[in-house]
Amino acid sequence: MGSLGNTSKLAEPALFYQNVYESSFPHVASASGLYITLEDGREVLDATGGAAVSAIGHGNQRVNAAIIKQLSKFTYAHPGYFQNRVSHQLADILVESTGGKLARACLIGSGSEAVETAMKLARQYFLEQDPNSPRLHFISRQNSWHGCTLGALSVGDLKSRREPFLELLPNNVSQVSACHPYREQRPDETVEEYVARLAAELEEEFQRVGPGNVCAFVAETMVGTALGCVTALPGYFRAIREVCDRHGALLILDEVMCGLGRTGTMHAWEQEGIVPDIQAVGKGLGAGYATISAILIHQRVIDGLKAGSASFQHGQTYQCHPLNVVAALEVQRVILEEGLVHNAHKMGLLLGSSLRNAFANHPHVGQVRGRGLFWCIEFVADPVTKKPLDPKLNVAKRMRLRGLEKGYEICLFSSTGCADGWKGDHFMLSPPFTITAQDVEEIVSRTLRVVNSVFDEVS
Ligand code: PLP
Repeated sequence: MGSLGNTSKLAEPALFYQNVYESSFPHVASASGLYITLEDGREVLDATGGAAVSAIGHGNQRVNAAIIKQLSKFTYAHPGYFQNRVSHQLADILVESTGGKLARACLIGSGSEAVETAMKLARQYFLEQDPNSPRLHFISRQNSWHGCTLGALSVGDLKSRREPFLELLPNNVSQVSACHPYREQRPDETVEEYVARLAAELEEEFQRVGPGNVCAFVAETMVGTALGCVTALPGYFRAIREVCDRHGALLILDEVMCGLGRTGTMHAWEQEGIVPDIQAVGKGLGAGYATISAILIHQRVIDGLKAGSASFQHGQTYQCHPLNVVAALEVQRVILEEGLVHNAHKMGLLLGSSLRNAFANHPHVGQVRGRGLFWCIEFVADPVTKKPLDPKLNVAKRMRLRGLEKGYEICLFSSTGCADGWKGDHFMLSPPFTITAQDVEEIVSRTLRVVNSVFDEVS
């Protein structure tokens, strides 16, 4: 009858995640608040929230109870035949959170799907106006990550993840520079000049492709995985919005990682003085309690559909799944009712200044940067020249692994960008919005211990 899943007799684990050989990650026994307890009893401080997912910490009783309550009512009814109230309630909360600037919410499963859904909706919007619309081209940015599925991968720029599949990717995508002052702003250039240079580059790309052929510009409002918590300079997104508007193209903002409170406001675009046409949100929506994402849509896009077929040619089996939705709904209610976005802002200021103090004179810290509860430390060989560390040292990966070793117990989301054509090693800290000043102190002290231990080893 087999093992019934209890004791595997297979030589290698049946479960396949990424590396066919890798099975050395620790097993989780339970999780509560800021901590993940391993099967060996150690408690790991989850300073990354699983890469900006756990917005309210682990094991929230309100969310657990809401899921259980929904379980006892019904767990599935096809969204093509039936509605469920909780999906409407979640969409209402999301739309209201934009202050009425965005009009509708479409609920899907993952961040990658949200980006793809946004791209498809943008394309259909133009088709509704003109069945022969030439607007097929997407412009995105270098050093970005938008997800694993083919469409999302086509607009992203993570070389190791793209290269095996290049022939499969749609080729109606081109990329312009990201706004990355630490690496790309010239020493003699003012903020205004740098922003103007980036806007001119985008304008040039529109002209090269043919402005009437561009469907949308796609960008992360605050860059996550690829560059590590890079905020745009003031005026950048306003300039980008102007270029899109001038040529009638849509602006899609990917806030899968940086959205829904992570940057200290509900939406990262609120701090940029612009509104997107379509916005993707994910990770923090279900905050680890559910596999759910969404796109938020501007009224002008909805009006475009209304003027045509009024029907988006898109539908997935698990859209609006009541268990996912009810979990996300309760997560968002907790965030609202407990004022957690404000706490993310407040604790974010403390985390930023504590990290800056702790790492101020570190010989290998190039920059400590971030906003809200989304912080990154970039490591370099020399902070003056900003020369990256030798990728062979694998400093970022060592830090991730060291954090999980006995005596360190902190989860850091690290990336050795050099391997992917990005410059530099970094790790990100994106703890839950529930953290206290004491938690901030613990995060910084454990982080410092990991960093020092790794540099003791490689120096
Ligand atoms: N967009 C951004 C900005 C992300 O950071 C990610 C994931 O890391 C995605 C999209 C893809 O999300 P998912 O992994 O849920 O498909």
